[in-house]
Order: sequence, then structure tokens, then C-alpha cells
Amino acid sequence: MAKHKERLELERFSFGIGDRFAHQAKAQLKAFQQLALDGVDVVPVWNKSNREHTLIGSNPESVHHFASEAVTALGWRNNWHVDADHIRLETVDRFIGCSDFFTIDVAESIGKPASSEKVETFVERHSELIGDIRIQGIAHPFPLSEGDLVAIVGKYLLAVEEAGRIYRHILVKKGPTPKFITEVSMDETDSPQTPPELLIILAMLSDEGIRVQTIAPKFTGRFNKGVDYVGDISKFEKEFNDDIAVIAHAVDAYDLPRNLKLSVHSGSDKFSLYPVIHRALVRSHAGIHIKTAGTTWLEELIGLAESGDEGAKFVKEIYAQALEHAEELCAPYASVIDIDRSKLPSSDRFAALNGSQIASAIRHIQQNPQFNANIRQLLHVAFKLAAKTGSRFTNLLVKNEEIVAQQVTENLYQRHLRPLFIG
Ligand SMILES: [Zn+2]
Repeated sequence: MAKHKERLELERFSFGIGDRFAHQAKAQLKAFQQLALDGVDVVPVWNKSNREHTLIGSNPESVHHFASEAVTALGWRNNWHVDADHIRLETVDRFIGCSDFFTIDVAESIGKPASSEKVETFVERHSELIGDIRIQGIAHPFPLSEGDLVAIVGKYLLAVEEAGRIYRHILVKKGPTPKFITEVSMDETDSPQTPPELLIILAMLSDEGIRVQTIAPKFTGRFNKGVDYVGDISKFEKEFNDDIAVIAHAVDAYDLPRNLKLSVHSGSDKFSLYPVIHRALVRSHAGIHIKTAGTTWLEELIGLAESGDEGAKFVKEIYAQALEHAEELCAPYASVIDIDRSKLPSSDRFAALNGSQIASAIRHIQQNPQFNANIRQLLHVAFKLAAKTGSRFTNLLVKNEEIVAQQVTENLYQRHLRPLFIG
């Protein structure tokens, strides 16, 4: 069937990893190998957004290059993918050749007025979305009036049309036998999407002809970068389980890909949600894509702090500069970090810490009294300061490869992959 020709099937379990400075692909892959030895296959997806490439000064080909080098070096036999993360029509082109996974970001178009004629056409076509909507796995039907449907379609239609434009653009650019995975992301917006909204969005994506395999809604609560979830866990659990049921329903009702699944963005370090997600996957047999938030860079700092004086000195310098430029570093991330400035030590106090104290302050072990989520978040957004030092930082990574790699692998394997997929 012509409309299915671009299919490259994303596996049930996949996990997105970022590697801003392109030195940790092997250490990351090793964590997946360890998990495979435990009996669970999870497919690694290396992701990097246009914003990250711009801040670091790297190009999309490099992600594919280092990932494939790691795959060869470690003899990885399972699949792996390269994700053009949060791309839009104006940024997608340089990702076409080297990516087989595209995260189409249309959050900016949410809420922009759509043509009322098109809204009407959709509502007419989809009378099944008016009334008490019964979904297997959700105890109570949710009521949707015609007015509700019009309002929700009006809010998301333009975003879905935009996703369609980008999707067809990729299809054409990929050439005669396009093979890629499509994710649609709506997470970088103000308000979460409810399960009924998700259902309507999926119906719209189907009408638009997008073979979406994974969708990243905005969930309830705060998904701050690199730290734990902040919000009502039981509310998240209900929403997450309802979303899974909605997806299963939409796959049948709207002929969407059978492997369609949820994608959790900024999914790294949401440790209090991992048992909830794990339970949901076991119960429902659903799949999941977890996208991490570039926290590998923090593991690099932890490794350097522990590597000796030279590495620790570097981390102290980065901290001092980050503190000085906190305002401007945090500004672009205002909606995804929460730093209590009063809990940030002065650069002098930070400089007085030894390497292992610094590592403990950054390493995400919440039970450790030395852990400081404010330091962690500030350093998380400070990666461009390291990029500015150029080869000084990357030379330190090379010189201390072993201790840094150990942090990267252990963090992924112990704190992320195992709790999520093994429980
Ligand atoms: Zn995202």
C-alpha cells in the first residue's frame, strides 16, 4: 500500500539518548548491552535537536557517525536509530540524510486559529467523537459535546496540518524508498493534553495521513530537565494509563500504525514515575519511548570531578561562570527548570569542595544529603560554557575516558533502564 511505504518500524521499547559532545556513544551503548544480558531488548535512539547542534557547533552527520562507530566497536546486533529531534520545516533539511527518526515539533502552532471550514469538515466526519466516548481500559466514558469537539479541533488543527507539511516534506526528500520513523511532539507548550484531546489529535493525524509511530504529549506536572518529576504522581498515573488506552483505541478506530506508542520527553531522571511507567507497561503490554534530556553532559562533569585535580578544577570554573551568567543561561529553559538561587553555594564555597563532594552534589541520588538539585540544574544548562572552551573540555574527556564512561554507563543502566524496564 502506497501510504505505508515509508515504514521503518520502531520497536516496542526504545530509549533516546543525547550525547552533546559526541564522546559517550560507546559508554551509552554499553548500558543497553547490559540490559540485553538481563533479558530486555531496548533500542537506543541517539537524538540531538537543531538547538543543541547550534549551541555546540556540531552537525547532524556527526551523530550518525559516532553512533555507528559505537555500534561497530561494541558489536551491537540489535537496531538503533538517529533522531532529528524537535525539527520543524525550516530546520529539517540538514537532518534528512543522516536520520531515520524524525521528531516533528508542532507545539508552536497549538492554539493558533485554524480555518473554521476545516474544523467543521472534521467535526462532520467524526460524529463518533461526540457523546459519551467509551474506551476499553478507561472505567468511565468521557463526555464530549459538539462544542467541546469544535474547541479541541480548533486548538490543534493548525498544528496537525503543520505536522503533515513537515511529514510530506520528509517523505519527498527521502527519495523513492523512504524509510523512517515519525514522532509528533506537542510537549513544549503551556498546558498538558488530556486523554480526550489526545484521542482527537490522533484522529486528526490519521486524517492528515501521518503514519505516526510515537507521540509526545505534554503530561500533567512538571518535567524539569535532569531532575525528578514534580507533581501529583497518582494523577500522572491515571493520565498515563488513560493515554495508553486511548492509543490502543485510536490505532483500531483510525487505522494508525499498530506499534504507535507514547513518548515521554525529558524522561530522564523522572525516578518517581519509573515504577508507574513500569507497572503500566507490564499491565498493558504497551510500548514506550523515553527521551532523555541531555544529562550525559552531567555525567561527564561528575567523572571529571572525580578524575583528579585538573578535572575538578575545570568543573569549578564552569560552576563559577555558570553562577555569574545564571540569568542568561536559565532564560531559554525557564519553563523546564526550577532553581532556588538561595541554595546555590557561592563559587568560593563550591571551589572549596573536593572532587568527590562535587560529584555527590551533582550525581542524581536524592537520598544522598550532599546532593543539590539546584547545582545540578544550573550545570545542566551550562553546557555551552564547556563548548566555549573547545578542545580543553574534550581533551579532558579523552584523557579521563574510563572514569567518565563509567559514570555514563552506570547512570543509564542502574538509574534509568533497569527501573523502567526491569522494575
Ligand atoms: Zn521534547
